[in-house]
Amino acid sequence: MTNFMEYTQALAPKTKRIALVAHDHMKDTLTQWCLKHKANLAKQTLCATGTTGQRIKKATGLEVAPLLSGPMGGDQQIGAKIAEQTLDILIFFWDPLASMPHDPDVKALLRIAAVWNIAVACNPTSADYLITSSLVNTSYDYRVPDYSAYAAGRE
Ligand code: PGA
Repeated sequence: MTNFMEYTQALAPKTKRIALVAHDHMKDTLTQWCLKHKANLAKQTLCATGTTGQRIKKATGLEVAPLLSGPMGGDQQIGAKIAEQTLDILIFFWDPLASMPHDPDVKALLRIAAVWNIAVACNPTSADYLITSSLVNTSYDYRVPDYSAYAAGRE
């Protein structure tokens, strides 16, 4: 397929919209990470897949909007937010040592995050670098696909 996608600019707001997801063996790691960065995370707008969100809320007291559990469609809900450009950052501690029944959803989520050029961290080190970036607490211009130009050129 010829790649003739064009691009336009989007603006991530000063208060970032962040999704938090962790597979079962990674939930403690994500909860610890949230505790470590609680002060900064409290300034952002958070959502999480069902079980992950409950764990984070209980351990940190952070306000976290609940989505469905990942295997029940929660990953896809996050994917929809990305495609609708209502999500700026994805913190996704997927488990590299376990197979998942919803592996297609996991791949789809990582793919759509790449399509829409949002910030993604899949392990605690990357997430440390990401959340401590000065760009997190300021509005940020970034490149997104311009689908209307793409569709017009398809004829
Ligand atoms: P959960 O979903 O937070 O409901 O466990 C995460 C996932 O497995 O994608």
